[in-house]
Amino acid sequence: MADAEVDLFVIGAGSGGTRAARIAAGYGAKVMVAEEFRVGGTCVIRGCIPKKLFVYASRFRDEFEDAEGFGWKIGKTSFDWPTLVAGKEKEITRLSGLYGTFMTRAGAEIVQSRAVIEDTQTVRLLNDGRRIRAKYILIATGGHPVFEPQIPGLEHTITSNEIFDLPVFPKRLVIVGGGYIAVEFASIFARLGAIVTQVFRADNVLRGFDDDLRSNLAVALRDAEIDLRAGILPQRIEKTNKGLHVHLSDGSCVEADQVLVATGRRPNTNDLGLEKAGVGINEKGAIVVDSHSKTSVDSIYAVGDVTDRINLTPVAVREGHAFADTIFGERPTTVSHINVPSAVFTTPEIGTVGLSEQEARKIFDCVDIYLAHFRPLKANMSGREEKVLMKVVVDGATDQVLGVHILGHDAGEMAQLVAIPVGMGCKKTDFDATMALHPTAAEELVTMRTRAARYERSPAERA
Ligand code: NDP
Repeated sequence: MADAEVDLFVIGAGSGGTRAARIAAGYGAKVMVAEEFRVGGTCVIRGCIPKKLFVYASRFRDEFEDAEGFGWKIGKTSFDWPTLVAGKEKEITRLSGLYGTFMTRAGAEIVQSRAVIEDTQTVRLLNDGRRIRAKYILIATGGHPVFEPQIPGLEHTITSNEIFDLPVFPKRLVIVGGGYIAVEFASIFARLGAIVTQVFRADNVLRGFDDDLRSNLAVALRDAEIDLRAGILPQRIEKTNKGLHVHLSDGSCVEADQVLVATGRRPNTNDLGLEKAGVGINEKGAIVVDSHSKTSVDSIYAVGDVTDRINLTPVAVREGHAFADTIFGERPTTVSHINVPSAVFTTPEIGTVGLSEQEARKIFDCVDIYLAHFRPLKANMSGREEKVLMKVVVDGATDQVLGVHILGHDAGEMAQLVAIPVGMGCKKTDFDATMALHPTAAEELVTMRTRAARYERSPAERA
């Protein structure tokens, strides 16, 4: 006998789960949501939002320096880590509260508990043992950072879960990994005043991004005095009374106050009762779903990072919304995972949508590249060594824009807007026909007249 009956039980109050709960409740469904940590999930509590706040904090350093070229005399500046951590905590608490309010106002009930699946339509709350019978269960449990590579001394390291709340600012920081999280934190902590060493196994950072963005970002990170070490990993970490000794694969040793491991994330599928209910997972532990986010069980759906499709907040939000529309709004909806824009909040920032040059050249017979690489107006007066890179990837046969890649100030903002025409299948001639907005950096996107390169596949390569 169930202790309660609901139409929808959502496990996890992160971006995807919260949206699904709110929309489903808005359609009149009886909804219960279980969250074991804090409402808001990774994005709000220990991901995108606090990260962006730290990015803002870090960029004041450049602003102070640049101001002098414009006539300002800035006195001695100093940075106070506890003030930043406390300000961040206040903001994420406010946002977490808002997420909760949105759900409860819509009529959903939130319970602070871990929940496990008992069978295809029953969930058990671990805090009080209650069993909840649900017509539908939505798994939106997100992911967690991995601790890899497995080396002696790994217990002395931290992940992105801990870095936002360190009691003491790490003056010497070693970062392991070359992905989103690693480059963003390298950028943040270098500007906040830490000596940063970043080690990663690949030949460059950000595997999968356009190669021109990667190489230009690496130059900018080195200019910011980040010690980037490609093709190198830690082999063991020792704790001494002077801090951590990080022994690297090239035989060198770096001293650090903290070691941040940012070598990827895994879906949170352990100990959820998935096997009992018959929910299928893939070799990476992610829940396998169809285009409507339905698992191998008709009454159980999953959205967001736990499905490891595209692990970005807006994607999880869309998937959660589409699920609620489909099941409770009688509007079957799927989410397109094509042309999803993304940003990397390094300084300079990356904003990107669509295919990289390398991806396009694998798929299309003829690929045209348009490039702009220039010093922004502000840097001419501040004296900062800074370059903006813009790249447009075009199908040479049809003139369709396949991808746009930007490195520079506000690249994320530009990528969001340019994702609209790219998603609509616009042509390069549409870019050319658009009037420039002067003086901006973005005007370069519509004033690239000369093709920088054309790559044609030979008949043998096409076969
Ligand atoms: P990423 O997948 O971006 O990068 C993982 C890094 O770790 C890569 O450099 C990878 O190397 C390396 N790596 C993986 N396994 C090992 C191993 N066993 N030993 C050594 N190195 C290893 O993961 P992140 O942790 O940086 O971020 C996780 C996800 O979070 C991202 O994929 C993204 O979806 C999301 N995110 C998005 C942000 C944004 O939108 N701005 C910001 C932060 C996170 P290699 O390249 O050689 O595979």
